[in-house]
Amino acid sequence: MRVEKLEDIVGKSWVITEKERMLDYLTDETAIEVRPQPASELTLVKPANPQEISSVLKFANCEKIPVFPRGGGTGLCGGAIPTENGIILSLERLKKIDVDKDNLMAIAEAGATLRELIEKVEQERLFFPPHPGDESAQVGGIVACNAGGSRAVKYGIMRSYVKGIDAVLPTGELLSLGGELLKNNTGYDLMHLIVGSEGTLAVITKVVLRLFPPAAASVTMVIPYYDRHDAINTVPKILQSGIIPLAIEYMDRNRNFSQAPRCGLAM
Ligand SMILES: Cc1cc2nc3c(=O)[nH]c(=O)nc-3n(C[C@H](O)[C@H](O)[C@H](O)COP(=O)(O)OP(=O)(O)OC[C@H]3O[C@@H](n4cnc5c(N)ncnc54)[C@H](O)[C@@H]3O)c2cc1C
Repeated sequence: MRVEKLEDIVGKSWVITEKERMLDYLTDETAIEVRPQPASELTLVKPANPQEISSVLKFANCEKIPVFPRGGGTGLCGGAIPTENGIILSLERLKKIDVDKDNLMAIAEAGATLRELIEKVEQERLFFPPHPGDESAQVGGIVACNAGGSRAVKYGIMRSYVKGIDAVLPTGELLSLGGELLKNNTGYDLMHLIVGSEGTLAVITKVVLRLFPPAAASVTMVIPYYDRHDAINTVPKILQSGIIPLAIEYMDRNRNFSQAPRCGLAM
């Protein structure tokens, strides 16, 4: 691979070829028993903006070099692991987040983490409902994976919150789809093709996300059960009652006391 070409595009300090400096980028949170092995000839590239990403992709496309877009590396199925010799394209330098309070939207670059998004949104006293478990996931990653999380029953998954996507195609073309609109129903919905495409169709560089006012109040209930079937069978009854909890978690008791409840629901 012509590393000098990549250095020309993003600057020398943002191209890494030494394996010991890219160890964190060779893995993700996939269970070790099934985690794929990374390839051996890899170059880690950290572009600063969509134009640089476009130039990297044009170069890779021309030279037929595989590219692995990289978010927070919290995925659980090896999607971000570079399994062929090629380029790891990290989005970590694209971090800007703006909140449009009047229109209840956040405009976030792909490399901002879920934690940074939540903090920024909460500073404006607004609420971003979906919560896939690991807050070091990046905005681009959670859109690319159409992530869900424990609040999905009440609030749905990422797809319901994505209103706009800026992305770069493998040929280097820049795309801007959707925007700060709630009703955008003309033509084919290419934006939703990219949501959940897991890095196979385009590199997501920026997204527009729908926000909500926070709930006026919230309470947590812990309900003990003697039998786990009773706990599980209660869940449809709770949902049918019309009260949709933010999340319901099932918990096992970690020690067995003969007279004590064995498990519980927290909601
Ligand atoms: C403790 C824990 C709890 C979790 N809980 C949930 C959960 O409740 N629900 C859930 O859905 N997931 C959950 N996950 C999985 C994970 O957090 C999500 O899949 C998350 O969406 C991955 O984001 P990431 O930035 O870490 O992506 P990465 O792991 O870096 O990448 C995942 C895939 O997205 C692609 N990708 C990343 N960024 C981009 C981009 N900008 N453009 C194009 N493609 C890109 C990568 O190529 C790869 O294919 C959990 C993970 C952990 C460790």
